[in-house]
Amino acid sequence: MIIMKTDATQEQIEGVIAEVKKYGSRVDVSRGRYKTVIGLIGDERKIPFDHLTALPGVKEAVGVETRYKLISREYKQFYEETVEHRKIKVGNVEIGGDELVIIAGPCAVESKKQLFRIAEEVKKAGAHILRGGIFKPRSSVYSFQGLGGEGWEEAVGASQWLQKAGEMFDMPVVTEVRGEAQIDLVAEYADILQIGARNMYNQDLLTKVAKKKKPVLFKRHFGASVEEFLSFAEYIAAEGNKDIILCERGIVPVGKGKEYTRYTLDLAAVPAIRKETYLPVIVDPSHATGRRDLIFNMSCAAVAAGASGLMIEVHYNPAEALVDGPQAITSDELKHIINTAKEIKKLVMPEK
Ligand code: PEP
Ligand code: MN
Repeated sequence: MIIMKTDATQEQIEGVIAEVKKYGSRVDVSRGRYKTVIGLIGDERKIPFDHLTALPGVKEAVGVETRYKLISREYKQFYEETVEHRKIKVGNVEIGGDELVIIAGPCAVESKKQLFRIAEEVKKAGAHILRGGIFKPRSSVYSFQGLGGEGWEEAVGASQWLQKAGEMFDMPVVTEVRGEAQIDLVAEYADILQIGARNMYNQDLLTKVAKKKKPVLFKRHFGASVEEFLSFAEYIAAEGNKDIILCERGIVPVGKGKEYTRYTLDLAAVPAIRKETYLPVIVDPSHATGRRDLIFNMSCAAVAAGASGLMIEVHYNPAEALVDGPQAITSDELKHIINTAKEIKKLVMPEK
C-alpha cells in the first residue's frame, strides 16, 4: 500500500502507478478528499517498498500483511475520511444503511405464476428485494435443478420473469450465478448477482462476476473460516467492485449425534466480520436452520447481532415447493418477522 502526500500531484500519482506496474502489480487507487492511497494487488514479495518510498509525492510505502486489505476496516482509514459502513445502493434500496433490508422470495423460481404471486406477497409483507433461484446448486443430480436446468430457453424465460416481477412490485432482484456460462445472462436481468456458498472458493467465478460491476451477494461456504470468507471477498474487490454484500448462512455442525438444524448459524461471525470490514453483512436463517419454526427466532437474533439485512425463503404453500419446502415460511410469517426485526434494529442502532 502506498500513501501519497496530501500535496501529491496527479503526475506524481501516475508516476507511482506506472512504477508499481513494472513489478507486475495491479493497483486499486482510492482518492480521498485529502490524500490518495494506492493499494497494490499482486505478489508483494516482488515489490521494493524502500525504492517506492523514495519516489516523488510518496509519504509511505508499506507491505500489508492482511489477505483482505481492500475490504478491511483497518486500512480503510488510510484512504477515506471517516471509517464508516459501506452503503450499497440498488435501485431505491440501500444495503448497509440505517434501515434493515429484507430479501425474500422462493428458493427456486418454479413458474411465472408462482414467482409473481410470491413477489406480490413478500412486497406487501414489507420486503425490499426479491430473490428466486434459477440455477440451483443441488446435492443430487436427480433433484430439480431450477428452471435453468431444463434448458437455456427456460433459463432466459425465468430470468425475464424475475426482472418483470421486480419491476412490477418495485423490488430489485437477486439470483445465483452457479457457473461462468451463466454470468452474462444473470447480469443482464438481475440487479444483484449471488455467489452461493459452494462457490465461495471459486476464484475464477468471483473475478468474472465482479467484472460485471453489479453488486454481489457473497455467501460464506459452510466450511470456511471468517478469514477465508473475507480473503475470497477480496477477489471481488480486487476487480474494483466493492459492492459486496456478505452473507452468513451457517457452517457445518460438529458432533456425531442427531442434528436439529441443517447447519450451525454462526451469529458471532456477524459482529466479528463487521469489526474487520466496512462491508455490510446479512444473514440467511433459512438455509442455516432448514426449519421454518426457527426462522423467527434466528432472524431476531441475527438483527440483534448487527446484521444489515436478512434473506428469507418464502412460499405460499411450503408443502408444494419444489426445493427447500421445510424451511419456507409464508408471507404472513414474514410480515411478523419484519415488524419485530425492525424494532430490534432500532434498539441496536446506532451502535455505541
Ligand atoms: C440459496 O440462497 O439459494 C442457496 C442455495 O444458498 P447456499 O448457497 O447458502 O446454500
Ligand atoms: Mn433454498
